[in-house]
Amino acid sequence: MLRWAEIHLNRLFHNYREIKKISGRKKIFAVVKANAYGHGSVRISKFLEDKTDVSGFAVATFEEGKELREARIRREILVMASHLEEGYKEAVDYRLTPVIFDFEGLKLVKELDIPFHVKIDTGMGRLGFLENEWNELLSELKYSKVEGIMSHFSSADEDLDFTKEQFKKFYSFASELKQLKPEIKIHIDNSAAIPIKFDSILTHCRVGIALYGSKPYPDYPLNLKQVMEVKAKVISIKELPSEFPISYSKTYKTSKQEKVAVISFGYADGLLRSLSNKGEVLINGRRCPIRGRICMDMTIVSIEGLKVRKGDTAIISGEKLTFEEIAEKAGTIPYEIMCDISPRVKRIYHEGV
Ligand SMILES: *Cc1c(COP(=O)(O)O)cnc(C)c1O
Repeated sequence: MLRWAEIHLNRLFHNYREIKKISGRKKIFAVVKANAYGHGSVRISKFLEDKTDVSGFAVATFEEGKELREARIRREILVMASHLEEGYKEAVDYRLTPVIFDFEGLKLVKELDIPFHVKIDTGMGRLGFLENEWNELLSELKYSKVEGIMSHFSSADEDLDFTKEQFKKFYSFASELKQLKPEIKIHIDNSAAIPIKFDSILTHCRVGIALYGSKPYPDYPLNLKQVMEVKAKVISIKELPSEFPISYSKTYKTSKQEKVAVISFGYADGLLRSLSNKGEVLINGRRCPIRGRICMDMTIVSIEGLKVRKGDTAIISGEKLTFEEIAEKAGTIPYEIMCDISPRVKRIYHEGV
């Protein structure tokens, strides 16, 4: 095998426990959309359902929810980024809980007579009922199977004042709905928000990135472990002469004789091409800078002064070269790097708690 990703389920368990320490009495929805941020939604969900008290799972689409049910996941599955018109059949057949965010959806969910969560927009400008619709919404919800009320923070990682404003709006609506439906589930926290102390009206939180071991902001107060380790083999080694160009468009040229290794991992595997001449990989614990353009299936790195052999393993990302560090260099967020690890990279699971 030339390229693979090792998924350490014991680290997932560790992160879950860290989150529980700080989420208080709130129950946890594990966010496993986009194939669990690239980690494999079936295996991740099964593990959490077997080993933890996770309350349920949150996915983006009805297709994603269906896949989990077909793999015999039994707890609640919340579908957060699709409209019911698209997936009502799956919602009914696979007992998926739709998130309703407009009056068309509300009408349909009442016709189907299935449980649902409702979403309000408190400042994200994406999905959810706007404030001027809340009165009408409340009266509509009175006679319905609504089981949850949610909203989403836009800036919990960087703007506490705005986050508190969003929460205040959410609180005012949620507390009114709670009068009508005392058992309602109430949730707004994502990973970045769980350390913030809000009023105890919240019953649940929705956690994604922290489960997988990346911090949503640098001084995030949880001790997390990166669950995924991405690895690839060295498939060729050579000593290039001085003044020798490397890779497409010759963006790097050796200034003296330089030993390089060709790694079987490229942008088709999820190594962002913008890291050309910028990123690094680890070989035998040492950092090796990327030379020249990253190619589709291969990347060339300098191993000058190092003992490296053909067949050695390079770490593309792991605890000592985290997705956060890579994202910072590439001008993006760890979420995107995780999601970009392509299906060609085989996932290998290490069990055991
Ligand atoms: C993805 C998502 C989350 C999880 O966010 P993290 O930052 O990964 O914890 C929570 N809520 C909604 C609506 C989402 O789309």
